[in-house]
Amino acid sequence: MTPTSGRVQLRAGVATDTGRVRSVNEDSYILLPDQGLWVVADGMGGAQAGDVASQMAIDTLRSTYHEPTIDALADAVAEANARIHEAARDASHLKGMGTTTVAIALVPEEPDPEHPEIPADELSQHLLVINVGDSRAYLFRDGSLSQLTEDHSVVAELLREGRINEREAEAHPQRNIITRVLGVYPQVTPDIWPIDPIRGDRYLLCSDGLFNEVGDDQMAAVLRRLDDPSEAADELVRLALEGGGRDNVTVIVLDVVDDGGQAQRASRALAGDLAGFSSAIDRRNRRSDDEVDRGRGGKTSRSQRRAERKAARAGRTRVTWRVLLFTVLLLGVIGGAFATIQWYGTSTYFVGFEGDEVTIFQGRPGGILWIEPELEDGTGILRDEVPDRYLADLEDGHELSSLARAKQYVSNIERDIAELTPTTTTTVPTSTTTATTSSTAP
Ligand code: MG
Repeated sequence: MTPTSGRVQLRAGVATDTGRVRSVNEDSYILLPDQGLWVVADGMGGAQAGDVASQMAIDTLRSTYHEPTIDALADAVAEANARIHEAARDASHLKGMGTTTVAIALVPEEPDPEHPEIPADELSQHLLVINVGDSRAYLFRDGSLSQLTEDHSVVAELLREGRINEREAEAHPQRNIITRVLGVYPQVTPDIWPIDPIRGDRYLLCSDGLFNEVGDDQMAAVLRRLDDPSEAADELVRLALEGGGRDNVTVIVLDVVDDGGQAQRASRALAGDLAGFSSAIDRRNRRSDDEVDRGRGGKTSRSQRRAERKAARAGRTRVTWRVLLFTVLLLGVIGGAFATIQWYGTSTYFVGFEGDEVTIFQGRPGGILWIEPELEDGTGILRDEVPDRYLADLEDGHELSSLARAKQYVSNIERDIAELTPTTTTTVPTSTTTATTSSTAP
């Protein structure tokens, strides 16, 4: 194994618990700082087969991943899949066992064929995230938490396609069905993609026992509050137990202690991108200013008119207490209706087109009565780049219950664009598997 540390330095903490309901912990994990590999696996299958499957995945990765490359990592996962599949086929008590696997590996970038003179130890390093199933990797950067992996589950796929919404997903009868898993079929296709480590980044690998019990905001708050990765992992597991502990829960917190100067390189590269964005941002800001001015103008003149009418009436109307009471009640009813419509008109977000750019709006597509949708954020994605299957939804405006969900929807579009683009950095194809398997029975 070529040592991969020395420049990028990572520090990990881990915690796991059987939970409050189950009798066996079928999750497994491993921290291999010398190999530059950190893994969480969530096993499934009758009796204790889930436990066997997740442990086999971990053992196989440890014993077969010897060289820090993307190919070696994909091969090790394929080998784990094959071994679990064979074991399940050969022993009746292990039949149908499988496991999720989510891992992060630290690898040097591939040598540049145009610059073979650059020695291997001077190549910059990045992290690879690899995922099969519905365990997750998150990135906590600049104080906010984002999910890096896509769940390979029926419900997540329906959500991504926009066929159900978040509320329907939570109550969906197939929410435990996962669509990709190690060990159930002879082959499996993992998702793999690279990320540049930036000092201060915190990565979170976890089984579904965490995020089914603990909200994103709670997770982010822990990562903000506790600097020590072991303490953060312990606290996250404690919150999962407090939230119900209905499943096994395993958490690895992986901190980028030193990025070997990669943050500066990345920000230099970003500066180039930002120059291109600035004119679009200016345009958007000017447009918002206009809207604010128009809004203020309207409000002022309406209130002026009201004040004038009131002043004119004041001289000639004798107000009795009955009239006053009636007026107060009427105003209450009108105010309530107004507030309800206002809430309805602004409580959601949607993703649609502003001109040719995919844009996040606050409000309802087309607006409600006097409430026009507000431009929330541009995305830089142009109509021409959008995969066909999103177009109809975007034309109508795809509604989502929060800004975070709208952003997630946009990042799904971005990811699909990246997958369709032949020059993408994702070097392992990520479609094909159609296997459908029940996850751990409740
Ligand atoms: Mg689980």
